[in-house]
Amino acid sequence: RAYLDRIDAVDPKIQALMTLTDELALAQAKEADARIAGGDVEALTGVPIVFKDVLCTKGIRTTCSSKMLENFIPPYDAAVVERLRSRGVVIVGKANMDEFAMGSSTENSAYFTTRNPWDISRVPGGSSGGSAAAVAAGLAPAALGSDTGGSIRQPAAFCSVVGLKPTYGLVSRFGLIAFASSLDQIGPFTRDVADNALVLNAIAGYDPRDSTSVPQPETDYYGCLGGSVKGMKIGVPKEYFAQGVTLQVKAAVDTALRVYEDLGCEIEECSLPTTDAALAVYYIIAPSEASANLARYDGVKYGYSFKDTDSMWQAMEKTRAIGFGPEVKRRIMLGTYALSAGYYDAWYVKAQKVRTVIRREFDAAFERYDALVTPTAPTVPFKIGEKAADPFSMYLSDICTIPVNIAGLPGISIQGGFAEGLPIGLQIIGKPFAEKTILKLGHAFQ
Ligand code: GLN
Repeated sequence: RAYLDRIDAVDPKIQALMTLTDELALAQAKEADARIAGGDVEALTGVPIVFKDVLCTKGIRTTCSSKMLENFIPPYDAAVVERLRSRGVVIVGKANMDEFAMGSSTENSAYFTTRNPWDISRVPGGSSGGSAAAVAAGLAPAALGSDTGGSIRQPAAFCSVVGLKPTYGLVSRFGLIAFASSLDQIGPFTRDVADNALVLNAIAGYDPRDSTSVPQPETDYYGCLGGSVKGMKIGVPKEYFAQGVTLQVKAAVDTALRVYEDLGCEIEECSLPTTDAALAVYYIIAPSEASANLARYDGVKYGYSFKDTDSMWQAMEKTRAIGFGPEVKRRIMLGTYALSAGYYDAWYVKAQKVRTVIRREFDAAFERYDALVTPTAPTVPFKIGEKAADPFSMYLSDICTIPVNIAGLPGISIQGGFAEGLPIGLQIIGKPFAEKTILKLGHAFQ
């Protein structure tokens, strides 16, 4: 009830939530009370949570912040929702996002723009801006988001919360509405690293319904926190301090790095030379996969359907013309172009090759370092409207996070300090399945 009251009081200003599930929340809270009274208590029993509206929730409208799915009520839960429900969480709502997770500011939602709780004239980041803002504004202690090129870490940085993108394959994508399937991962937003580890404990694990799910030994991510980080080796890739990273952000990250020095870590500058190709690689691979994934919205199987015609082709055309917003259309066109017969080798195949080069550079770096530390985003949260008309400057917001998805690595953004009076994030990148290492380092910083 306290959280629902808080939502009532604050969310009209922030607009983090797409759908409020207050009745369900009270019923689940009652169940949790009963469980607790019976002595059946786990870490997350009775804990309120918000899900990004890209995650299917049985019986609860799931829009992807698109007109296309305005009235879509999934008949099943995403694997992560199922797992958290079985642990007794309380679902308070679904979070606003950029349409189909395409964007870095939540301004691409077909419904409304979420605001940054630190300054409501600024964006909360995106695409999981609603989830990040919900946690930052105290609407729930935890939320889930999805991250294809930075959509958990960048809004976490902008809203000064903790956001983790797990290793590709650690968390099941079953029931996550697909954007770019080789890059998408689900992960938690929380106020601190310890809470983040608790949510990861609940959502990580093999799932045969996701063909890219990787079996891993059961791990207690919470249990690994604490203890010394002395002697750990941290690489600081110099390319992450170029390309539009402001002097103020750079200075804040330098200050944060001194904390690790004081904790006894060895800090060393390193180089990942192909970093500057990552954005181009991403904007070929992600739209290509998106164009294929979004072909399913044909007005027949799901969601919006234009009916006022006898022609099947016109029905399909109109459904997609009306149902998709401008950014989604831009991605479909980019992807269709890159995959078309005459251009496939020049664009898509080339991008895949460069993807491998980027991955190998990370592999080489991780032979020398336990983790890499970078800024999460190149700037502080920008003003609503500032980049909305210029897709390329919006795309640059993910310059520090995109390489991590390209290589499938785990990355966490923690509160790194402030620049220009606004929060900045510190990104810690680990080897595949080394979530323990980056959580431990993040925890030590806090
Ligand atoms: N901002 C990037 C994009 O628009 C990343 C989005 C994401 O991670 N879902 O594609």
